[in-house]
Amino acid sequence: MVQLIPSQEAVMQILTRTGAFREGHFIYPNGKHSPHYFQMPLAFRYYDTARVLAVALSRMFRLEKDISSQLPKVSVISPSSGGIPVAFGVRDALNAEQIYWAEQELGERQFRQYVNQGEVNPCIIVDDIIRSGHAIEETVKLVKQLGARIIGCGAIVRFDSAPSEVEGVPIKSLVEFDVKMYQEGDECVDCKHGAAPEHVRY
Ligand SMILES: [Zn+2]
Repeated sequence: MVQLIPSQEAVMQILTRTGAFREGHFIYPNGKHSPHYFQMPLAFRYYDTARVLAVALSRMFRLEKDISSQLPKVSVISPSSGGIPVAFGVRDALNAEQIYWAEQELGERQFRQYVNQGEVNPCIIVDDIIRSGHAIEETVKLVKQLGARIIGCGAIVRFDSAPSEVEGVPIKSLVEFDVKMYQEGDECVDCKHGAAPEHVRY
């Protein structure tokens, strides 16, 4: 049998192997420099990898009595397109009844599905990566407006600068990443060494 929940090191190996995690000299759209870059959809392009990651995250949820006792009457919710494969994988592993996802529309986060008050089961919010936590917080607001309760939240990777809980629910992750972001110039070690930067999206 494989290990029930893979170690942080094992997950980082998967992310590195698939190109979802790279080290180098990156400039983000907000102008910040960083020696690391995550592009999580690259890990989710492989079905086997996607499955391993989603099943591992689902096991962290199943350990929670508040979640396991309510299955299958649970919703798995993604704040954005990046979390959709995670949501489907977690839903599958938990045999949860519902799935929803949100999108940015006209500058506002909204559910892609038309959904009415009272239709949403108790929720687990999942994403591929939590950087600032803004997407999660906006999704929490949407869920509460619909009168649903949040019973779980998690991602494959959580930056350690992001919140560690929402609505009193701890955010679970397979990797807690020690994030490094710098302003250009002296603060960025790679700039100081003259390494050529790569501009990245997202
Ligand atoms: Zn730099």
